[in-house]
Amino acid sequence: MALETFQQYIGGSFSDANETFDSIDPANGNVWAKMPKATEADVDRAVQAAHVAFTSGVWPTLNASARGKLLYKLADLMAANADVLAELETRDTGKIRRETRAVILYISEYYRYFAGLADKLQGAHFDVDKPDMEAYTRREPIGVVAAIVPWNSQMFLSAVKLAPALAAGCTVVLKASEDGPAPLLQFAKLVDEAGFPPGVVNIITGMGDSCGKALTSHPLIDRIAFTGGPSTARRIVENSANNLAAVSLELGGKSPVLVFEDADLESAANAIVSGIFAATGQSCVAGSRLLVHENVHAKLMEILIAKAQRIKIGDPQDLETEMGPLATQRQLMHVQDVVDRSVAAGAKLVTGGNIPADFTNGFYYEPTILDCDKPVIACVQEEIFGPVLSVLKFKDDAQALSLANDSEYGLASGVFTKDIGRAHRFVKSLRAGIVWVNTYRMISPMVPFGGYGQSGTGREAGAESILDYTRTKSVWINTSEAPISDPFIMR
Ligand code: NAD
Repeated sequence: MALETFQQYIGGSFSDANETFDSIDPANGNVWAKMPKATEADVDRAVQAAHVAFTSGVWPTLNASARGKLLYKLADLMAANADVLAELETRDTGKIRRETRAVILYISEYYRYFAGLADKLQGAHFDVDKPDMEAYTRREPIGVVAAIVPWNSQMFLSAVKLAPALAAGCTVVLKASEDGPAPLLQFAKLVDEAGFPPGVVNIITGMGDSCGKALTSHPLIDRIAFTGGPSTARRIVENSANNLAAVSLELGGKSPVLVFEDADLESAANAIVSGIFAATGQSCVAGSRLLVHENVHAKLMEILIAKAQRIKIGDPQDLETEMGPLATQRQLMHVQDVVDRSVAAGAKLVTGGNIPADFTNGFYYEPTILDCDKPVIACVQEEIFGPVLSVLKFKDDAQALSLANDSEYGLASGVFTKDIGRAHRFVKSLRAGIVWVNTYRMISPMVPFGGYGQSGTGREAGAESILDYTRTKSVWINTSEAPISDPFIMR
């Protein structure tokens, strides 16, 4: 069967790159498509197109309401094309179809939310302490944005960058991950159909160390919005020394889920399963460290093991499937390596820990639970990005908090308790950008998202995030008819 091919989108035109790379279907390990591998010359063309679109032509003359209307149109197109996009995302990443479709429909709400914010940006007027002077500020778009996303949730992670950037009036070069870029390259067709002027949105893909580096160090880039791992983030910060672009970093996590003695264990168990096994654990907010009170440890483990063993593994395109493969063979090997190292260091494997016998062709891995008696084991410390839950017991609230905060990361956290006072105390003391109480994995365009420590800087989503794509211009107007008197005094 002929391989499918995808094109890059630069300056309002679809084109091939000089080279291509293979995309592999994680459900069977077969090459299914050829992707354009952007070279440094392609990156330069895309950035130049975004720069021209930002500085001249139609885009800078559009008012904010007109930008909002374009975003509403894009949202409608996304929703209308949810099936096509979901099929491609599932094919290229192994994420289950029932999740990709639901998420794509919800992502269209992010575009709607920021469409509505486009014409709510305001400056301020100042009653200044100078005679005859008027002063006010304008919120202006920051310029050309380089948006870089990882493979696990490209449609969502690009929406939280593209939507506020476009609403604010920026132009964007979006680099899809080299793993699973198909849905974003397809999405480019919707951007085109929505009628954004050429060069306002450019979508390319290629390797991180060539295409990604060329993009983030390009002198015409004003803002870098990155989601990915902490080591790549460090390289991106180095690259940005070249253009001094403003940088936001959404990085990894090792998020704790705390279950207290008084929690509803059945409900907590469902949230824990969703937190670690949904998306095959390839989620930055994966609740990968379960901290449970010693008195309910045995009971909760029993419930969790039963639930993990009932998870229906299978073809991610099948709507009955609950857990699909990992996205890449590299990721599968990484997961197996961390599990093996942890077991060798004393973690007790209570379920999973293997490639499932019936699924040896794709990149499948069993839902895995490791019971640990010390917090220094690899599975407790390292981000695994796979379906692996590490469990530790605690005796009291103080130990629970100390274990929870014992991580270089600080993205998300979950607290399960019926004690409202305890819930509030933990909300205050947990070192994490998100605290979910008696729930997990909730997101909304209205609510900011981001981490502490090695989980990054900056917040995405929420009304304030649009300000990160603007800069403030201060304006002074002399209303006096009198000439300026002494030129050597600053007034
Ligand atoms: P990664 O850091 O390897 O790659 C992310 C992106 O950066 C890719 O597009 C890659 O091509 C690009 N890149 C690589 N080297 C580059 C360079 N030198 N210059 C510029 N770009 C470069 O991450 P990954 O393995 O694709 O994704 C997994 C990571 O992403 C995990 O750590 C995960 O936790 C994190 N993540 C974070 C969030 C969040 O919102 N906090 C969400 C999802 C994933």
